Amino acid sequence: MSQLPILVQKYGGTSVGSTDRIKAVAERIASYVRNGHKLVVVVSAMGKTTDELVRLAYEITAHPHKREMDMLLSTGEQVSIALLAMALHEIGVSAVSFTAAQVHIKTDQNFSNARIEKIETDRLLKAFQSYDVCIVAGFQGVDADWNITTLGRGGSDTSAVALAAALKASECEIFTDVDGVYTADPNKVPRARKLDQIAYDEMLELASLGAGVLHSRAVEFAKKYNVRIHVRSSFNFTKGTQVVPEEEIMEKLLVTGVTLKNDEARVSVQEVPDRPGIAAELFTALAEKNINVDIIVQSTGQDKKNTISFTVPMGDVQTAQEVIENVIQKWEAGTLSIDTEIAVVSAVGVGMKSHSGIAAKMFQVLADHGINIEMITTSEIKISCVIAKKHGEEALRLIHSIFDLDAPQG
Ligand code: ADP
Ligand code: ASP
Ligand code: MG
Repeated sequence: MSQLPILVQKYGGTSVGSTDRIKAVAERIASYVRNGHKLVVVVSAMGKTTDELVRLAYEITAHPHKREMDMLLSTGEQVSIALLAMALHEIGVSAVSFTAAQVHIKTDQNFSNARIEKIETDRLLKAFQSYDVCIVAGFQGVDADWNITTLGRGGSDTSAVALAAALKASECEIFTDVDGVYTADPNKVPRARKLDQIAYDEMLELASLGAGVLHSRAVEFAKKYNVRIHVRSSFNFTKGTQVVPEEEIMEKLLVTGVTLKNDEARVSVQEVPDRPGIAAELFTALAEKNINVDIIVQSTGQDKKNTISFTVPMGDVQTAQEVIENVIQKWEAGTLSIDTEIAVVSAVGVGMKSHSGIAAKMFQVLADHGINIEMITTSEIKISCVIAKKHGEEALRLIHSIFDLDAPQG
């Protein structure tokens, strides 16, 4: 067996989007094998396969059973692992593909958003006695009863980092369709700049606030198990972005990145009685249905009545509505309104811990352009504003500029 450490790499949907792309990825993997490496390669489904599978399910039913949905969505990755193995065989590389069940990626039973609980590495380590490359299907796992689960959209990143952690690899390379992590989504902000490094906590905030370049749980795993993530392009050989501990960051920016989230809705419950236990009752009912509540604002009126507003993922709106209508009925008080035309814009940076005035600067630039702020939330390293969806991209670019993140023009 090679003395060199096992490399863990992940190739995303665009990177394996066609058979030509799969052949190109195989060539790339072969170059590492020729240098004496063994590799664990995690792959996503080809191109937009997962979206297509979701579409098929909704052609059959408006309420697909979650277990069957995971059974369906996990098939996309099974196609790409087999094709990549064949492409490697074609160029003389010894490779074998595995589904998550075959390499014991154990998760909880939360279908469509399962959490990895354990990975047993025996099968992989044994396979390396015969093969140079083990290809593992991303995005999927199995629960204690061997039901197939999926880790949430974009979850192949998490499969890869969790495997890197389990194999005690010090780095996990995430190959994608951009050159690294940028100060904003380069497809929405043309003047976004590539970052050489970013701290785990910043990346975690950016990922949870809508920077789809990494799955947030992947960053959680990386931080917990000290795995460096290298986000880079599968289309070239340039160095990408290293996601590392904060102490290692050389260039400390005040704001590192800005994000826009378009898939949240605001739920407002008005005329809520002002007494202890009301909020607890409401949010317990939502939690029981696994609804992820985000920004919460409560305002008190003069007549002992409150308004509680919060955001939920668009996909949970219907369930949230049903839950809240039940609670309101029990209270015999309260009215519900839902606004799906909102966006959340956020600025993130560890520099905020030690500098003041950042929030004011962000609010001012929105005000100067007539963009109304509907809700605000902050943490030590982020500021988020809820605004009208129609202003989302403009706000994103304005905030990007005001914090001097724009790349020089020309
Ligand atoms: P993959 O299929 O390789 O996992 P994704 O589509 O999940 O690729 O992630 C890459 C995409 O993330 C990019 O094409 C880009 O549009 C988007 N993105 C969003 N925010 C950022 C950011 N801050 N930096 C880089 N890319 C970003
Ligand atoms: N194929 C899955 C998705 O499209 C997982 C991934 O790409 O990471 O969400
Ligand atoms: Mg992705």
